[in-house]
Amino acid sequence: MTPPNLRGKALHDVLGRLPKPVTRPSNRISDYFGTNVFNEGAMRMFLTEDAYRAVRSAIDRGERIDRKLADQVASGMKEWAASKGATHYTHWFQPLNGSSAEKHDAFFEPLGDGRSIERFDGGMLVQQEPDASSFPSGGIRNTFEARGYTAWDPGSPAFLIHQTLCIPTIFVSYTGEALDFKTPLLRSIRALDEAATAVCQYFDKDVKKVIGTLGWEQEYFLVDESFYYARPDIMMSGRALFGHGPARGQQLEDHYFGSIPERTQAFMVDFETEALKLGIPVKTRHNEVAPNQFECAPVYEEMNLAVDHNMLLMDVMEKTARKHDMRVLFHEKPYAGVNGSGKHNNWSLATDTGVNLLKPARTPKENIQFLAFFVNTIAAVHAHADVLRASIASANNDHRLGANEAPPAIISVFIGEYLTELLDGLEKNIKSKMSPASKTELKLDIGRIPPVLLDNTDRNRTSPVAFTGNKFEFRAVGSSANCAAPMTVLNTIVAAQLKEFKAAVDALIAKDVKKDEAILRVIRDLITASKPVRFEGNGYGDAWKEEAAKRGLPNVVDTPRALDAWGNASTKKLFADMGVLSGKELDARHEIELHSYTLKVQIESRVCADMATNHVLPAAIHYQNRLIQNVKGLQDVLGKDADKASATQMEQIRKMSRHIAEIHALCQAMTEARKAANVIADQRAKAIAYCDNVKPFLDKIRYHSNKLELMVDDELWPLPKMRELLFTR
Ligand code: ADP
Ligand code: MG
Repeated sequence: MTPPNLRGKALHDVLGRLPKPVTRPSNRISDYFGTNVFNEGAMRMFLTEDAYRAVRSAIDRGERIDRKLADQVASGMKEWAASKGATHYTHWFQPLNGSSAEKHDAFFEPLGDGRSIERFDGGMLVQQEPDASSFPSGGIRNTFEARGYTAWDPGSPAFLIHQTLCIPTIFVSYTGEALDFKTPLLRSIRALDEAATAVCQYFDKDVKKVIGTLGWEQEYFLVDESFYYARPDIMMSGRALFGHGPARGQQLEDHYFGSIPERTQAFMVDFETEALKLGIPVKTRHNEVAPNQFECAPVYEEMNLAVDHNMLLMDVMEKTARKHDMRVLFHEKPYAGVNGSGKHNNWSLATDTGVNLLKPARTPKENIQFLAFFVNTIAAVHAHADVLRASIASANNDHRLGANEAPPAIISVFIGEYLTELLDGLEKNIKSKMSPASKTELKLDIGRIPPVLLDNTDRNRTSPVAFTGNKFEFRAVGSSANCAAPMTVLNTIVAAQLKEFKAAVDALIAKDVKKDEAILRVIRDLITASKPVRFEGNGYGDAWKEEAAKRGLPNVVDTPRALDAWGNASTKKLFADMGVLSGKELDARHEIELHSYTLKVQIESRVCADMATNHVLPAAIHYQNRLIQNVKGLQDVLGKDADKASATQMEQIRKMSRHIAEIHALCQAMTEARKAANVIADQRAKAIAYCDNVKPFLDKIRYHSNKLELMVDDELWPLPKMRELLFTR
């Protein structure tokens, strides 16, 4: 007897699975929230008053910590970590390969005379030089000059994982160029703070600082570990390159917000417990639209922290999933035919006086402030849609954007009916010279934004950027992405826009226009100028593509071309002016992303050819042989009557031969296309060759394989089928 194939074994495994028992430290989350974080409470307990104050002023005002105090902070941190069983420490950073990185060192140090101590001083806390020459640098570091430094980011507290003290850091080259996601994010946060605080000064002199807030919503799929191992495509590339759509997909719409399967629930409770101990304020969990798709969302936080927390959470989820015999798929489009996964980035601005600048207020005066930030954000998105698009471009996200379930690749802003009316009204009403009466009218008008707005704004799911009552939601971000990339861009373009706004208002004031009127006039101009980016209709239809083209909005559907925005002179000027990324740093990022695109498609293409040749074709030929045996048998038994009796089998045999031949030919042609692309030296041209000449083969091969899947005996088919991947839990 032949042993069952991997699929058979996987099915057997999965049917026997039970939910794993999960224990929580306490029934009340507040009892263990943040226990693995060197937070306020821990700092107060383990730091001297001086050291504590130094850290606080570093967090609040970005002030430097001197070496002596850094020693004290380090010693306090070590004591705290050791009290919780930590033996090692690491600088934790986010290099441009998309993951987080860590290299553990023991506190332990031999003294050379047989004795040893546990040591961790300020120098070790503040700066490290990891041998990190294998991280992507886009040509910034030559290998002979491969030094990269990690430097402590006091804005994000240290935390404990697996007896290791993790210190969030930035990662820069010897010459100071950013080699990570966090450095430009921090620079953009500073630029946004400066620009927004300056604008706030028109309305409230008490505002000294504006922080960006981020609340991400993390979507993901779960797949049983045994299926995962039986699907080399999912293992290697994160998505299913083969598989006929199941008879039932998501059309019954019964999964969204449905009751959470037991095994999944156990997994969720388990990773949430870990996350909560790490101070990640996860709050919401639910089923998503596609079968076996779920979402997790925290309470929003200061953006730098929120970004770290998202990276950390993804890591915790991956590790926890293994304990539950599952794998979590963060890929943007693991399965064709059902929804992909995104990571909505809810973005807003908060003042140090506790005001959400994107929340419509009760008084007319405060609403002018709201309008200023609201309209400037829309104007920024309009002016820099191409860079925003580039910030979310990836090989994975290409499968999702514009795939009739996710926002299209055309960047537009949805603000809802009420605010549309309000902006349209303002645009018409603000005369360049207003009479006192019309000014009062106008103020009253603005004053009338009702509080219910908070609840009745949209649920237009088709828009890449939507205003949702008190924040903008950037929905085009991919589920596997580091939020820092899109947030850096959004911060930077809004900062630049606010600076321009302030200059324009000040120019009017210098000409003796009253402040409020000057502000309203500039707002009016911005409303007019940015009107094309506002779209309230259905973003999925072809009609929108035509309309968007007429409006001059870019619609770049693939990553290699979307990334062109990084190289534009206007982008370089913008990022340099805002002090976020130099031309050299932008070029490096551009290069890295092109290269990463090429590698991803290359991997998919290799896995696809391997599976087609070593899994699909052998199964098909095996079954075809059975049919041939059957036909021969019928001939033996029935003689001349066999022709009629074996007609169906003969037809199947012929059809299978055609698909087999097609797959074989396509795999060969794909390999040739890959070879041709591989010799191209220019990264952009190479990525485009992969996009235009290699990628299309994947769908063609899938098509023929899917046809074979429908013919071959279910028992012989080696790959877990889509119905199994999507519906077993
Ligand atoms: P949805 O219906 O899209 O799930 P929610 O109101 O539940 O919307 O919020 C989604 C996310 O938005 C949550 O992570 C929440 O913390 C975040 N959020 C709420 N207010 C803000 C804000 N002012 N700034 C940033 N994020 C916010
Ligand atoms: Mg949302």
